Amino acid sequence: MSDYVSGLMADLKARNPGEPEFHQAVQEVAESLTLVFERHPKYREAKILERMTEPERVIMFRVPWVDDAGEIRINRGYRVEMNSAIGPYKGGLRFHPTVNLGLLKFLAFEQVLKNALTTLPMGGGKGGSDFDPKGKSDAEVMRFCQSFMTELQRHIGPNTDVPAGDIGVGGREIGYLFGQYKRIRNEFTGVLTGKGIEWGGSLIRPEATGYGAVYFAHEMLGTRDDNLEGKVCLVSGSGNVAQFAVEKLLDMGAKPVTMSDSNGFIHDPDGIDREKLEWVMELKNVRRGRIREYVEAFPHATYTEADPKGDHNPMWAIPADCAFPCATQNEINGKDAANLLNGGVYVVSEGANMPSTPDAVDQFLSAGILYGPGKAANAGGVAVSGLEMSQDALRITWARHEVDGRLKDIMKAIHKQCRETAEEYGTPGNYVNGANIAGFVKVADAMLDQGLV
Ligand code: NDP
Repeated sequence: MSDYVSGLMADLKARNPGEPEFHQAVQEVAESLTLVFERHPKYREAKILERMTEPERVIMFRVPWVDDAGEIRINRGYRVEMNSAIGPYKGGLRFHPTVNLGLLKFLAFEQVLKNALTTLPMGGGKGGSDFDPKGKSDAEVMRFCQSFMTELQRHIGPNTDVPAGDIGVGGREIGYLFGQYKRIRNEFTGVLTGKGIEWGGSLIRPEATGYGAVYFAHEMLGTRDDNLEGKVCLVSGSGNVAQFAVEKLLDMGAKPVTMSDSNGFIHDPDGIDREKLEWVMELKNVRRGRIREYVEAFPHATYTEADPKGDHNPMWAIPADCAFPCATQNEINGKDAANLLNGGVYVVSEGANMPSTPDAVDQFLSAGILYGPGKAANAGGVAVSGLEMSQDALRITWARHEVDGRLKDIMKAIHKQCRETAEEYGTPGNYVNGANIAGFVKVADAMLDQGLV
């Protein structure tokens, strides 16, 4: 690490104490950028990275609501408006008990670079709440969403800031949030993405992140004249991203064998086929059940309970060719990475944001496997959100094949940018450097053009 980058990191940690995920995300990017700062001192002189790591605006607010028992509950809401150099703030809302300011700053920072890679005009933001939708009734989720939007509506708009879903925020939550925005503002606009198809949504938006991560893996394999046909794949998570990663893997002839939630994972050595996937979708999206129930329906599979005190996740030790982490940050640690490599995995395409710890990333890069970091591999979701914004603005709806075609082209373009940039900076095959540098340069140049912003 250069003196400049270590000084910058020391300063960042002192100014943002207690935000380990934010430090981790910036550190990874700053290390990649050492190569850029050497070649182009103008970015260092203009303190672009120092500016990019300070949010343009942070909004934090009280979210009071009443539960079904009539008890008053109070949660905390956030929106981090990180960077608007290349377009309106854009990024998801996460509802999960672990949400805090540092977590959202990490996600917002990643989002800025990711959105730049999509080739679409979108700045970066992220928001959410420590509200846990799990175990809540629909009526409770609705009352929470209405209270959350009663404050958030002042700060967002179709040309200002356009939130979407993330962990704990799916179609149901986006519906309640949109309904409340519309009541208060008396406007029907594309202020949120991930909307229902009958009221301003885009076809392929629910599928986009999972499909995109698989398209990215396909592109990486293509560089070695290889493809996904017959590949055994480990998938973590069983939410939006995981479900559609599994669906696209089946389309591509691969064999997904695992899915998980925060309580544990299932391993189905026969493969999770379409019928089983449909069952999982009904379980998770309609019945809102747990993945452990899979083994009751499909007894050939096994269920392993998560061990919160364990030093690794045994799911990543199952022999396979490819891994698609689609659950949450830091779900693959150093030991898991070693197990993946020992088990034969040579493709990792990240559906989740920052699912691999720095130690795990180092091992993937040293081993020279095809490693697609989240900000490139999972950018399909926000890319189709960008396409949803375009359709809303034009008041038209594109056909399924048209959106899917654009998604494929965008994933191809992201892959190409990452690959070419990695080569240009002397680290061929390193998609981490490629993604970080290509995303940074686009935003940095826009910031330079716009004066001291
Ligand atoms: P969902 O809420 O639909 O699903 C999340 C899944 O991950 C669930 O199976 C959940 O299990 C599991 N999970 C969440 N937190 C943890 C945890 N701490 N430990 C273990 N498992 C956990 O979210 P998404 O599928 O939308 O998001 C998954 C990942 O993809 C996130 O990292 C998100 O930021 C990223 N992403 C999502 C995009 C999107 O379009 N939705 C776009 C780009 C990235 P449980 O039910 O037990 O909580």
